Amino acid sequence: MAKIVCVLYPDPVNGFPPRYARDSIPVLTGYPNGQTLPTPADIDFTPGELLGSVSGELGLRAFLEARGHTLVVTSDKDGPDSVLDRELQDADVLISQPFWPAYLSAERIAKAPQLKLALTAGIGSDHVDIDAAIAAGITVAEETYSNSISVAEHAVMQILALVRNFLPAHRWAEQGGWNIADSVSRAYDLEGMDVGVIAAGRIGQAVLRRLAPFAVKLHYTDKHRLSADVEAELGLTFHPDAQSLARAVDVVSIHAPLHPETRNLFDEELIGSMRRGSYIINTARAQIVDRDAIVRALESGQLAGYAGDVWYPQPPAPDHPWRTMPNNAMTPHVSGSTLSAQARYAAGTREILEDWLDGKPIRDEYLIVDGGRLAGTGAASYTATVNATPAA
Ligand code: NDP
Repeated sequence: MAKIVCVLYPDPVNGFPPRYARDSIPVLTGYPNGQTLPTPADIDFTPGELLGSVSGELGLRAFLEARGHTLVVTSDKDGPDSVLDRELQDADVLISQPFWPAYLSAERIAKAPQLKLALTAGIGSDHVDIDAAIAAGITVAEETYSNSISVAEHAVMQILALVRNFLPAHRWAEQGGWNIADSVSRAYDLEGMDVGVIAAGRIGQAVLRRLAPFAVKLHYTDKHRLSADVEAELGLTFHPDAQSLARAVDVVSIHAPLHPETRNLFDEELIGSMRRGSYIINTARAQIVDRDAIVRALESGQLAGYAGDVWYPQPPAPDHPWRTMPNNAMTPHVSGSTLSAQARYAAGTREILEDWLDGKPIRDEYLIVDGGRLAGTGAASYTATVNATPAA
């Protein structure tokens, strides 16, 4: 029987379950690239409910306990004597979420000799030390595509919020003012601007598609070029690297995974090479940008705005400078955890667990690490310093 430790974000401060704003979520038929939605044998939750917090338990308890497995759910993941550290010692499976990441470091892996599966409920497994997981033979998997469109919508919203100066205008309205000049003195139309994405994967491409109707000039860079048909359809300008793209645009939206090639990519020099008054939106991972270089660029006016939902560490300290830096439109890490997304990643988590517990292969597109090497989506999008087993 397996022991599954699941680290989820805390329940709402007003109690669980919340009073839902709507009675249902739309039923989707598939993902844009033809990938099928999660296919668990069954689910024990109602799509549209809060599943990602501790009491939601990703809807897993009845399923796991009926099979005799042990499920431990906690949000206590940091500090010297966390519940996570105590429970991980004899765990077979760790489930964590990027929104409230249980950082699975090499030290933690060394103290978890039975750990065989590190499952990300969502997308983005950089909170797992990939090299250490490879060396320890731990399988790493995530629910590819489950929240890609959710994040793309959030990125487009934050682009518009910054360029249109939405938040300051909203604050004037809320505070009883009618300060048109104050509100519009930093407001522009997006129309006609050069907008670029770093990485045109699932999220990056969805952002490009959603922005095309705004009559902007679209740019992208990626390790692999998109097909000529897609480039022509969306009117895309390809750049061989981030340096070339950054110089050519007014708005950058970052959608690359965090790995050695992308860590600290947007440093002082790259930000300094951008047009004065550029905007950066980062819903990928915080460490792709230099935290303090962003603050300085906002203070100097080199950047007109910065938005995103990813921070490091998570949760960030109360005095993290991104909470109060000028012209930011930051949110907590929420873009990929809408109630709509939760239904998909909870179902995907269940699908992966069903397969893994039955000794069946996990869908290739869900795999990041398997059999001592990068696999599936991981082999396409990540880099590792070591591969215990050479990649085929
Ligand atoms: P995909 O795997 O579909 O796309 C990632 C893309 O990044 C691929 O096209 C890959 O290239 C490209 N890429 C990798 N390294 C580089 C590089 N050095 N330079 C340029 N391009 C690069 O992932 P998703 O679009 O689904 O997700 C992207 C990231 O977004 C995730 O890794 C995660 O960190 C983040 N995310 C954030 C969420 C949130 O809630 N804020 C939720 C979900 C994801 P290729 O494959 O062509 O080699």
